[in-house]
Amino acid sequence: MGIEQAYVDAHPASRALYERARRVVPSGVTHDSRYLRPFPIYAARAQGSRKWDVDGHEYIDYVMGHGALLLGHNHPAVMGPAAEQLSRGTHYGASHQAEIEWAEEVIRLVPSAEAVRFTSSGTEATLMALRLARAHSGRPAVLKFDRHFHGWHDYVIGSSRYGAAAPPGVPAATLDTVVVVAPQMHVVRETVAGRDDIGAVIVEPAGASSGTIPLPRGFLPELESFCRQRGLLFIMDEVVTGFRWTPGGIQQEEGLSPDLTTLAKILAGGFPGGAVAGRRDLLDQLAFPAPGEHAEKVGHPGTFNANPLSSVAGTACLREIADGRHQSRSRALASRLRTGMNAELHRLGLPGFVYGQASEFRIVLGGDTVPTPRDYDPRDLPLELLSAGSSRETERLLNLSLLTRGVHLFGNGGTTSSVHTEDDLAQTVEAWAAALQALCDESVLPS
Ligand code: PMP
Repeated sequence: MGIEQAYVDAHPASRALYERARRVVPSGVTHDSRYLRPFPIYAARAQGSRKWDVDGHEYIDYVMGHGALLLGHNHPAVMGPAAEQLSRGTHYGASHQAEIEWAEEVIRLVPSAEAVRFTSSGTEATLMALRLARAHSGRPAVLKFDRHFHGWHDYVIGSSRYGAAAPPGVPAATLDTVVVVAPQMHVVRETVAGRDDIGAVIVEPAGASSGTIPLPRGFLPELESFCRQRGLLFIMDEVVTGFRWTPGGIQQEEGLSPDLTTLAKILAGGFPGGAVAGRRDLLDQLAFPAPGEHAEKVGHPGTFNANPLSSVAGTACLREIADGRHQSRSRALASRLRTGMNAELHRLGLPGFVYGQASEFRIVLGGDTVPTPRDYDPRDLPLELLSAGSSRETERLLNLSLLTRGVHLFGNGGTTSSVHTEDDLAQTVEAWAAALQALCDESVLPS
């Protein structure tokens, strides 16, 4: 039986929910990356490294809350305090102690954080970072890198996985204030030399789309020192990498000191939340002027900013991940997984790579090189291949084929948590080998 038919036959309850969803939600999905033809799975519950769907199938989960769940689903260190908080209320409409503790943990872990402001998502965090940068520099334009993803607000949706160069609905006047360039220092230098309206640079420090397209070696330190020389504000978007690469993010690993850092995902322990952290003088633009002072402040309301539930869960999560054990374990697991998956490509003689940084893995099927059974530093792989990615149809059928075999990827890859097990890896590699074989049988891959 074909890959798609096997998937359809195994998931009647998900299909029924999808038909119902389509009547009330565009394309039946509530996040672009959850769109999957002919329909996505509908989850019913999750625990640890696993989740179950409405048809009763069990999955090894590599979506892991879009990267929010370094500790897996329902980790007791987070869920205990969160459950207690539920019984005390979810929104006080007042200041509370947990938000202070949450901010203190961020400042303890993130090297460049002198002060913090919480938002409800990573998108809001980058929106606020750009506003703070523009307010400080007085210059309207921001430099952004090709295909780097910083959320879905108007300033950053262009040239990302989810938006073309001129995305529908975004005014040209807005796009004119965002200069998109290739992540190469000579391009950055030339661009900045040619304009005097650029005040800040924002970067995804693992490279475009959570490390799908890595940055050149040494790029970040060079970018940082260039920003210093030219008086540009350096914004690291550590929404994905923060607390995951190391407890202090990529800036800790590479010894960098961005002016502003955006955070979300692991920050809030699996609940909604984001933050901008960084230089005190920049964050202090949000402070109210002293009585008699006539300065304008940067505005920032937001109903769910630092709500008690996210604050308590986030604080508990950051305390749990502070010593680096969870990062080391999830990293080691991902490296073994990448190696095991490359070994299967090698055994089957299929060109492509499973690569990635820290606890992430990315899959590209195609090109003309069959990998050896090992882990790869993405910066050693052909950039054109990583930029092109697998064909959409190959990626779709791989996802369907793996779902039918109990593995849930996140698009072109996924992330390990610290609670994935050796058994999970072994089962995943077995499912991967069978899924690849199915793709060969359908002539999607060369056999
Ligand atoms: N920045 C980066 C680097 C991201 O990967 C994401 C989301 N994946 C965001 C910002 C936006 O975060 P959110 O989905 O919480 O709005």
